[in-house]
Amino acid sequence: MPIAYNKRSFRCGELRASHVGERVTLAGWVRNSRDHGGLTFIDLRDHTGIVQLRFNPDHVKEAHDIARSVHHEDVIAVEGEVVSRGEWVNPKLATGEVEIEVSAVEILSRSDPLPFQVNEDFDANEDLRLRYRFLDMRRQEVQNIFRLRHRIARAIREYFNDNGFIEIETPFLTKSTPEGARDYLVPSRVQAGTFYALPQSPQIFKQLFMIAGYDRYAQIVRCFRDEDLRADRQPEFTQLDMEMAFVQAEDVMGMVEGCVARIFKEGLGIDIETPFPRMSEHEAMERFGIDRPDTRFGMELQDVGELVRPAGFKVFNEALDAGGVVKCLVAKGPAPLTRKITDGLTEEIRGIGGGGLPLVKVINGDNGLEFSTGIAKFVQPICKEICAAVGAEPGDTIFFMPGKFAQACKYLHFLRTRLADILNLIPENVWNLLWVVDFPAFVWDEEVNRWFSCHHPFTSPRDEDIPLLDTDPGQVRAKAYDLVLNGTEMAGGSIRIHRGDVQQKVFGLLGITPEEAKLKFEYLLDALRFGAPPHGGIAFGLDRWVMLLAGAESLREVIAFPKTQRATCPLTNAPSAVAPEQLEELFLAIKTPPQKK
Ligand code: ASP
Repeated sequence: MPIAYNKRSFRCGELRASHVGERVTLAGWVRNSRDHGGLTFIDLRDHTGIVQLRFNPDHVKEAHDIARSVHHEDVIAVEGEVVSRGEWVNPKLATGEVEIEVSAVEILSRSDPLPFQVNEDFDANEDLRLRYRFLDMRRQEVQNIFRLRHRIARAIREYFNDNGFIEIETPFLTKSTPEGARDYLVPSRVQAGTFYALPQSPQIFKQLFMIAGYDRYAQIVRCFRDEDLRADRQPEFTQLDMEMAFVQAEDVMGMVEGCVARIFKEGLGIDIETPFPRMSEHEAMERFGIDRPDTRFGMELQDVGELVRPAGFKVFNEALDAGGVVKCLVAKGPAPLTRKITDGLTEEIRGIGGGGLPLVKVINGDNGLEFSTGIAKFVQPICKEICAAVGAEPGDTIFFMPGKFAQACKYLHFLRTRLADILNLIPENVWNLLWVVDFPAFVWDEEVNRWFSCHHPFTSPRDEDIPLLDTDPGQVRAKAYDLVLNGTEMAGGSIRIHRGDVQQKVFGLLGITPEEAKLKFEYLLDALRFGAPPHGGIAFGLDRWVMLLAGAESLREVIAFPKTQRATCPLTNAPSAVAPEQLEELFLAIKTPPQKK
């Protein structure tokens, strides 16, 4: 008699002592099997856990014979009775007080020998894991991640629903939206020679929803960016994308804070405090050297430009004379900053383009505070002033960075992060959430000689800065906000331009001619002509939130079928060549034969 596996009475991990005496139907995977003095035991596993099955040849010989033939990961169904394990309780298993005395077993499918174990003996490199991702995903650890991901996504949807947002889907086959990355293109067969772009974000569409009067929109949506991959990037990723009408930046930030609180509650059971602190981009750069500061530890950057000048140290004064800065940070002692470590850090700074890493150690000398090592002899005369200003004491190390403001910030941020690691400065289980606001709207790119939007071209300048668009674009501040968690940018958004004339002007500033604007964004410019409410929104990367809350090391861990660093999928072997007929249909020809990689 086949076993009614479609009528499982329990999941494997659900059985407890209170079920003793019940007849049950179970199904799952064979985690392992053991022969013990005539009895055979199988650990049966599904997503809820493990239960021990007992096969006694004196009870049902046929079932026992079948049980002896099973292997790891065969799929079986059983019927039997829940019995107590008596004194043989396994305290490591939630089901450890009971086992199933099996009366019937059916093998539903066999498993070949596995490329890697999916139990605690798991050991496989990432390539193999991704090649057999369905096996990798069978592991409890990975199951937990995807169940957490589901709970977070559900909490987000519920939150926005509770707050009057509606989810509307936006197209995937669309026109390029500028979000700063390269587009993925999809050739059109019907309109041969033309291409759709996969959306980098639903930015313009969500603005159109506001113009169409939908008031509040939130969507969990896939976005696509063809960038060079790093550990924390994927070509397709999931964003929580939202937009609200008739709002100011504070309203969007407040709404997001509620959502983030809900995510933390759902994901980690933690109550986080709202509102989150706000910091201007300028302050973040001054104090941390980066616009997404990690505020879990101090060791902030300090400006000592004017203080060091009297020492007459050439390297510093040249930087200052060229309009630059001398910034420093103090690593508190006693710290294990050996020569080997500081030399290593100097090399690392050189590796990212820096000139070096001038440093001194503070000691208690014959005349009180003195500098030693590094550039001590050049800055000795101003030792006391510097130490007093930056709060340095004997045992501390001061690292200096002369140069242009942006460069000094870049290298000292790098150093601060490295030192935090070396000196173990980051406390565990601390979640520091922070809004960074008051971003400049535009940056001048010296290489290509033109302005770029810091956020995107639809971001509204501050009202009082609109006149500066004509006179001093570099001074225009944006109504943009980024949410930072422990030094990682978790969300970014802005209040949008809702006036056609301002949007045109911004396009102009960005070097987009009226003809180009018409070609690319006519539909937005049209929409802005027909009654656009003030609106704004934000997007945050769901993958990254899940990664953080799951304590995962990379985005690939929290995406079911992710791409490798080379943007390939080892499971499906995508991307791959297509048949010549397919290319012909699209009027496409491959110019250079692809190199075998
Ligand atoms: N579209 C932006 C992004 O994907 C977010 C936003 O401005 O809402 O980064």
